[in-house]
Amino acid sequence: MDDAGRWASVRMRASWRGRHVSGGERLVPRAHVTTTASRLLARAASAGHTDRVTLTVDEISAGALVTAPALDVRTVCVADPTEGRALATAALRDLGVAEYPCGAAMSLLASGPSPNGGPMRGAVIMDHLSGSRLEPNSERGVRVSRVDMQPEDRARVRALAASERFVDALILASKVASLGCVIADLGWSDDPEYTPGYVASAARGYERFTHLKDTGSPFGGRVYFVDAATFDAAADVARLEAQPTVIALSEGLRLETVPVEIPGRFV
Ligand code: AMP
Repeated sequence: MDDAGRWASVRMRASWRGRHVSGGERLVPRAHVTTTASRLLARAASAGHTDRVTLTVDEISAGALVTAPALDVRTVCVADPTEGRALATAALRDLGVAEYPCGAAMSLLASGPSPNGGPMRGAVIMDHLSGSRLEPNSERGVRVSRVDMQPEDRARVRALAASERFVDALILASKVASLGCVIADLGWSDDPEYTPGYVASAARGYERFTHLKDTGSPFGGRVYFVDAATFDAAADVARLEAQPTVIALSEGLRLETVPVEIPGRFV
């Protein structure tokens, strides 16, 4: 049967004695499944000691794919995490997130958002006015999945971007921002060496701050601020976790860098 127009989800998980070592997921046109699978296997092979590598390929049923626009990107150069968090908070406040949830989200990400203080696999979902946590399972969080760009679009963004990690984060954030109930998305990595973070939203795009945490901190995560009046736990979590979504680039993709010399200045 002809592969044209057919897509697949390709997932890899590598572990050592039951502990997660490496993983990855791509959503690709069927013609790219073999190269994508071998790249993911190469990633597993370079990840160190593993005793199990699982590769799963699932066909995406015809008509299940939806598209969502890629967010425009601005990189805001900041001197340190204090300046970064102040500017990220200003962006969240501008989007309508109340003061208490802004502070609560920053503290959670700074200290590990899981109830036991560690990192979560997925994101926190937080009411943008009260700061209440709305994710069904607060140890695991909501793990966004089944989202990618057309391979040519991914390559186009990669050529302009500093890292593959940034491209993955933009793709995830673009899917999250496409949900009507999402007001804003705040995130930074739990990799101790990776200090940038972002505030993303349909209204302001993807604002990347060069430092949202100190080097050496093992804590990070993502907080999706939602309008609790329109958030539907079952339907919206199902969309985030399972709705196959292709992020589409507009002709005039914007990736801007904004050096910020005066705290609080945004353009
Ligand atoms: P990373 O930016 O990949 O270092 O991930 C940092 C944190 O963001 C993780 O510990 C998770 O809490 C969260 N996270 C990473 N990937 C996802 C995802 N696909 N969906 C939701 N949250 C995620």
